[in-house]
Amino acid sequence: MVKPEELMGKVSVVNGKYKLKGTFHISEPNQPIFNAETGKLAGITNPRDMTYIHSYGGEALFFESIAKGILMGTRCDNEKCEFKGSIYQPFRIYCPDCLRKMTPVDMKGMKAKVYSFIITARSGAFNSLKLPIKFINIEFDGVSTILMGYLSVGEPEIGMEVVPIFNTKKPTYTIVDLSWVPAGTPESELPENFTF
Ligand SMILES: [Zn+2]
Repeated sequence: MVKPEELMGKVSVVNGKYKLKGTFHISEPNQPIFNAETGKLAGITNPRDMTYIHSYGGEALFFESIAKGILMGTRCDNEKCEFKGSIYQPFRIYCPDCLRKMTPVDMKGMKAKVYSFIITARSGAFNSLKLPIKFINIEFDGVSTILMGYLSVGEPEIGMEVVPIFNTKKPTYTIVDLSWVPAGTPESELPENFTF
C-alpha cells in the first residue's frame, strides 16, 4: 500500500537545517490475536507506519552520481600514507589506513568481473527487487575492495565480465539505482528506466 501524496513525509534542507513537511508517523489501531480453537488471548499486533530520515552525509555524492549514470569510488591521495593510491569501491569517505579524507574518483572504464555470487529466491520485508535476486560480488582491476551488486540480465558466473547500469530515468537515490549486466548486453535488454 502506498500512502496518498498529501500524507507522504517530505524533507528539504533550508539554511542548513532539515525542514519537514507531511506526516511522518501514522497511527492505526492495534488488533488482538486470539487462539481460533480456544478463544484465548495470545497477543496483539503493533501496527507502525513511520518515515525514517536517512542522512547520506559524505556519501551523498555517490548516490547523486549513480542517478546521473556515474559510478564513483574513492582514492587515498595522502603523500604520507603507506597505501597511497588505494582505490575503494564501495565508496568510503576516509582512508582506513591513514584516516584522512579520500578523493572521489570516477570509475568509468575500469574492468569489473564477478568474484562470487548468490541467488536469493526469498527476500525479507520491503524488498523492491524482482525475485530471484542474482546478487554478485564485483571485483575491479586495481581496487582494494569488493562491491556487492545485483545482476539484471542473464545468469551470473564466476569470472564473468560485467558493466554497470544506472536508473537515470526515474532515480530512487538508493543503491538499487545501480545494477549490473554482462559486458556486451545491448541497451534494448536493460530493465525499464536503466541506461549505461
Ligand atoms: Zn591513506
